[in-house]
Amino acid sequence: MADSRCLADLADNLACRSRLGLTKVAGSRGEMEQLMEAVMPTAPTPRLSSLAQVRQWMGECSRCSLSQGRNKIVFGSGPEDARIMFIGEGPGEQEDRQGLPFVGPAGKLLDAMLAAVGLRREQVYIANIVKCRPPHNRDPQADEVAACRPFLEAQVKVIAPQAICTLGRPAAQSLLASDAPMGRLRGRWSLALGVPVLPTYHPAYLLRTPEAKALAYADLKALVKGPTT
Ligand code: SF4
Repeated sequence: MADSRCLADLADNLACRSRLGLTKVAGSRGEMEQLMEAVMPTAPTPRLSSLAQVRQWMGECSRCSLSQGRNKIVFGSGPEDARIMFIGEGPGEQEDRQGLPFVGPAGKLLDAMLAAVGLRREQVYIANIVKCRPPHNRDPQADEVAACRPFLEAQVKVIAPQAICTLGRPAAQSLLASDAPMGRLRGRWSLALGVPVLPTYHPAYLLRTPEAKALAYADLKALVKGPTT
């Protein structure tokens, strides 16, 4: 009786974590992850071997409420065999209008940052945690992140980048399932979805805080060099 009560509590806890977009739990990893899968059955992700198939699977998605306010889904852009993938939090106004990630002033700064470390936009893949614009550019909410997560995971699986660079706090915290502040996350390698991840600042933040550009430049130099651990 006590055991079944304990399991029920655990199931509630895991369901809560899943709603928050968390897919990892601390502790005895194998057993806990198996249990999480058992109590949180998810729709099976189809086998997808190209970005075109991922986009087709997404369709005119309405899995979360962000679909209601969007103009265009911003799927992502770049080559399917990109060595480096950048992930931001979500589309802004310009992106929502054009259906492309990182356009406008923040996109221009990202291009300049890439050029500073010898990269061109055509060489990297750029996507977001959520593919539809959050209203008033607010951070994506946990249920929206969770709803969109299978698409991001499918993109990462197809591209299989050697490294991911997250842009901004929401993207870093979401991908790394962490609530650490940017000051602790940026410039440090971690692992997510089986890929080394290096968080740095969002170009929109750098436009407002130019004194942080030197740190972002150092992060991008480290990104190009590759993981050190
Ligand atoms: S944000 Fe993602 S899950 Fe939500 S409607 Fe857009 S594509 Fe679908």
